Amino acid sequence: MTSPTSPRVRAAVTALPGYVPGRPAPVGPGGASFKISSNENPYPPLPAVLEVVQRAAAQLNRYPDMSSADLVGALAEHLDVPAARVVPGTGSVGVLGSLLQAVCETGDEVVFAWRSFEAYPIVVGLSGATPVPVPLDGAGRHDLDAMAGAITERTRLVLVCTPNNPTGPVVGAQELEAFLARVPRDVLVVVDEAYLEFVRDPQAADGLAAHRAHPNVMVLRTFSKAYGLAGLRVGYAVAHEPVAEALRRTAVPFGVSGIAQLAAVASLEQSEALLERVDAIVDERERVVAELTRQGWRLPRSEANFVFLPVGSSTGALVAACAGAGLSVRGYGDDGVRATVGDVAADDVLLEVCGAFLPTWSPDRVG
Ligand SMILES: *Cc1c(COP(=O)(O)O)cnc(C)c1O
Repeated sequence: MTSPTSPRVRAAVTALPGYVPGRPAPVGPGGASFKISSNENPYPPLPAVLEVVQRAAAQLNRYPDMSSADLVGALAEHLDVPAARVVPGTGSVGVLGSLLQAVCETGDEVVFAWRSFEAYPIVVGLSGATPVPVPLDGAGRHDLDAMAGAITERTRLVLVCTPNNPTGPVVGAQELEAFLARVPRDVLVVVDEAYLEFVRDPQAADGLAAHRAHPNVMVLRTFSKAYGLAGLRVGYAVAHEPVAEALRRTAVPFGVSGIAQLAAVASLEQSEALLERVDAIVDERERVVAELTRQGWRLPRSEANFVFLPVGSSTGALVAACAGAGLSVRGYGDDGVRATVGDVAADDVLLEVCGAFLPTWSPDRVG
């Protein structure tokens, strides 16, 4: 055996797909330039949140409160759950990473819908567990029947993303209950509700209600999207105690910065003002969807702050057309393009590009 000539990394790491971040915005004609590739909130932080952050900056020489006690307390009150069930982390992706470390070993299986959030195969692969992706149905929705059928004796965890990123549909409340009835009690179901605040469908599943009713259900939520704190990396889990305790043990020590903790608490205090902005983003989503539909597009039903254009093998062409107009959007292989909505000026450019693109892509769809 020849001796290795360089330090080695685990095979599981070498095999990982890379996380593709949204690209910076190109500059289009007339200077139009919008990054609508990361589902960020277009509004800047509220003055009250900014003020807290600026004041906290004077304490940067100190470690933050490792237990995030004030944030945990504020969330427990806001959600009406015991504080012991609330675990903040470095974005909900950070919490998900700790969760996989806590729950999965090599050879365990993790079931999730696909296409869904691109972090899923990465965090699952990193844990050494085997990803079991289950195709979405033709409307971009979770096929919960097939997901229940994919559960084996080796399944430890199921991820349910509602609304689903990148396609947009929610899982229905009744569907989720029927699914949970088929999941063995020792399999953990994680309901990822990163876009919860944008949901308006009254039939949509409520992850927290499912969590209260089922000892094997937990939710993941984030301050990155509706609350507009993507740059601070703060999200949280609500989980029953054995899992919550495991999450506290596997979290990066002091991972959630003092600034992030304070900004998150201030954002909960300002939730009324922030949710008014969410209402405006939802109105804007409905305007974009109505106009795309009028143009002739057939889209999956979005309950989030983005739309998904299922253009198949023309994905690259639509991404390029958007770039030519100053829009950075997100293309997914041969599935389609996701564009964040909410900024009226960006949405107008998107509508223009889509209106010109549709006839070139699928003439039979127009009208
Ligand atoms: C954006 C997003 C998250 C949240 O990411 P953070 O790490 O909290 O910024 C989680 N799940 C899904 C499906 C997302 O799209």
